[in-house]
Amino acid sequence: MEPITAFYSHLSIPKKVVITTHQKPDGDAMGSSLGLYHFLIQLGHSVTVVAPTNWADFLKWMPGCDKVVDFEAKREQANKILNEAELLFCLDFNIMHRTKHMENVLLGLNCVKVLIDHHQQPQESAFTYGVSNTSKSSTCEMVFDLIINSGYADKINNDVASCLYVGVMTDTGSFRFPAASANVHRMIAFLKEKGINHTAIHENIYDSFLENRLRFIGFALLNRMEVFYEYNTAIMAITKNDLFRFRIKTGDTEGLVNYLLTIEGIRFGAIVIDRDEERKWSFRSKGAFDVNTFARLHFDGGGHFNAAGGSSKDPLEVTVRNFKNILKEYETQLQ
Ligand code: 5GP
Ligand code: MN
Repeated sequence: MEPITAFYSHLSIPKKVVITTHQKPDGDAMGSSLGLYHFLIQLGHSVTVVAPTNWADFLKWMPGCDKVVDFEAKREQANKILNEAELLFCLDFNIMHRTKHMENVLLGLNCVKVLIDHHQQPQESAFTYGVSNTSKSSTCEMVFDLIINSGYADKINNDVASCLYVGVMTDTGSFRFPAASANVHRMIAFLKEKGINHTAIHENIYDSFLENRLRFIGFALLNRMEVFYEYNTAIMAITKNDLFRFRIKTGDTEGLVNYLLTIEGIRFGAIVIDRDEERKWSFRSKGAFDVNTFARLHFDGGGHFNAAGGSSKDPLEVTVRNFKNILKEYETQLQ
């Protein structure tokens, strides 16, 4: 993988471009993809965002979201667009299997592939150019850096700015995590001057759920949470029936894991959801406990130091039992 700076000169040559991101795209995945989209179309590129799966309803207000092609829902159309691509941007993931059923299609493409991402341990051999920086708050911050450093600051209009704001806001927990650096705040000041309405964006993302999601959270906190004070850990296991009973949709469970860390003294929070194809784990920590390594070692996953995910093919009760056994090995680290 060559450094992204070596790619800057390609930006001015119009190409057929596909932007893609990880499955079940979150605020940073969708924000960075659409922010880059609104930038590249101004340079004359023909651009399509292809997402591996569907995404949460609270992202659907974003400018350009209605044009995003869902690979799972529109496979034929998506495959045609991917096969015609001259340039592929991979945003907010760094290992091809995070694109689920798109993995083999992406690996098979011969076009130039550009990585922009902030997760640990990138699969460098899969990309032509790229930037991988784990100190960055979000992929949106990195797309902002790309636009500024390649000399196109004047192309940051309200659409670009609004999309990029989403990912920085969501990935920093509304600017509270350590990665919300002085540079991030300078970037936000720049976006504000481009006219973004940050209050409206915050409301669109965090105040647009249905009643059933709030009732589900109440139910889950009361009935599905276990706290292990001896390990400073709290976990939550959500069954298929819970998802069905509360009509839970993509995005409704996002952020649930963070409640666990609001208990005083709890340093490690884990939630597992019984999805159709796998048991999907989310891990969060505070301070020196490395959930990226934990997820990689035990749950075929990865992510960041304090926020990671993984999965298991075991039934729910089995994967929860395994987790509790593994936890014993970490007793001293979690003190
Ligand atoms: P979340 O718990 O919000 O799904 O994910 C937390 C972080 O870990 C995100 O940055 C996400 O991209 C990453 N992540 C989630 N699941 C996986 C996984 O299965 N593998 C890897 N490598 N990263 C993951
Ligand atoms: Mn991200």
